[in-house]
Amino acid sequence: MDHKIYDVTIIGGGPIGLFTAFYSGMRKLKTKVLESSGQLGGKITMFYPEKTLRDIGGIRKITGGDLVKELIRQAETFSPTILFHQHVSGLQRRPDGIFMLSTENGGLHLTKTVILTVGAGIFKPIKLDIPGAERYESGNLHYAVDDLNRFRNKRVLISGGGNAAVDWANELAEIAESITIVHRREAFSGHESDVSEMVKNARLYTPYCISALHGTGNRIERVAVKQVGTGEEIWLEADEVVVNHGIQGDYGGILNWGLKMKDERIEVNGAMETNIPGIFAAGDAAIYPHKLKLIAGGFAEGPVALNSAVRYMCPDAEPMAMYSTHHEDFVDENGREKEPQAR
Ligand SMILES: Cc1cc2nc3c(=O)[nH]c(=O)nc-3n(C[C@H](O)[C@H](O)[C@H](O)COP(=O)(O)OP(=O)(O)OC[C@H]3O[C@@H](n4cnc5c(N)ncnc54)[C@H](O)[C@@H]3O)c2cc1C
Repeated sequence: MDHKIYDVTIIGGGPIGLFTAFYSGMRKLKTKVLESSGQLGGKITMFYPEKTLRDIGGIRKITGGDLVKELIRQAETFSPTILFHQHVSGLQRRPDGIFMLSTENGGLHLTKTVILTVGAGIFKPIKLDIPGAERYESGNLHYAVDDLNRFRNKRVLISGGGNAAVDWANELAEIAESITIVHRREAFSGHESDVSEMVKNARLYTPYCISALHGTGNRIERVAVKQVGTGEEIWLEADEVVVNHGIQGDYGGILNWGLKMKDERIEVNGAMETNIPGIFAAGDAAIYPHKLKLIAGGFAEGPVALNSAVRYMCPDAEPMAMYSTHHEDFVDENGREKEPQAR
C-alpha cells in the first residue's frame, strides 16, 4: 500500500489521462496516474497505434503511436507517479474526506481528489463467437492491427462493417495482395468517401458472417462465411484474418460508487464535476450536453476537471494555470527557458 496522500489521482492512462497529468503538474499538484493495463495511451495504443490522426489541433498528421510517445513525454514533465496494472474498482471515504481507492489486486491509494479518465472502462474487442477461435489468436487471427508488415502481400479477410473495418480495408489495401470484407449487413457505417474507396479495393461478402474456421495449429487457412437469410455457406481462403466487431467497455466496480450515469457514461456538468464532490471526469468517460467526442475535446476537458479539483481543495485558488509561455516552471524571471522540477 502507498500511504502517501496525493492531491489528485487520475484513473486511466489514455490520451486524456496523460494530458491531464501534465496539466496537473502545471497546477503544482502531487499527481498519481493509475492504469489498469501494462501500457499507456488507452484506445490509441490498443487499437490503432499505426493509424494516422489528422484532427489534433496544430498537428497536420501523426500516427497514434507517435502521438502517445509525445503525450507520455509531456506527461512526464513534472514526474507524476504512474502505476500500471492498477484496475481501480473500490472507493471509500475516510472521515477526513480523503478518498481510498482500491484495486482488483489488493492495492490501496489515498487521494484528496479523483479524476476519472477511464474511457469506456476496461475495454476489450468483441471476439468471434466461434468455438475454438481463441487458438488462432497467437497465429493469424487479429482483433487489432499492430504491425502492418505482417499483412504485406497477404490475402487478408476482414470481418466487420464499422469505421475500423473500413479504415483497415483501405490502409491494408496498399500493401496486401487482396482484401476480402465479410459484413453481416449490406450497409457500412464508415465515412462515405472511405466506403467508396473500400468498395474499389476489396471483394465484398454482404450480408454474410463468419460461421466456421479451418486451420492447422494456430493458423487459419480457410474461413466459412454464411449468407444472412439464406444460410448458404461458402469457404474462403485467407492468410490473415482481422475481426473488427467493435469494442466493449466495462466500468466494473466504479458503477457501485453512486456516480450518476447517462447513456452508459459518467454524467458531468460544465466544470467536469460528477455528482460526487471531489470526483471529476473527462475524455470518453464523461458525458454532458454538446460533448465533442474527440481527443481534441478531451484535451480541454482534462484541464477543466483539474481546475475544478484545485478549486475543490482550495476555493480561493486561481481559476486556471498560468499560460505555458509565461509559466514560472518553464521560464525564469528573465524570460529564459528552465527545466521544470518534479512535484
Ligand atoms: C479505431 C479508432 C480510431 C479513432 N480515431 C480517432 C481520431 O482520428 N481522432 C480522435 O480525436 N479520436 C479518435 N478515436 C477516439 C479516441 O481514441 C478516444 O476519444 C480517446 O482514446 C479517448 O481517450 P480517453 O483517455 O478518454 O480514454 P481511453 O483512450 O479509452 O483510455 C482510457 C484508459 O483508462 C484505463 N482504464 C479503464 N478503466 C480503468 C480502471 N477501472 N482502472 C484503471 N484504469 C482504467 C484503460 O485501460 C485505458 O488505458 C478513435 C477511436 C478508435 C477506436
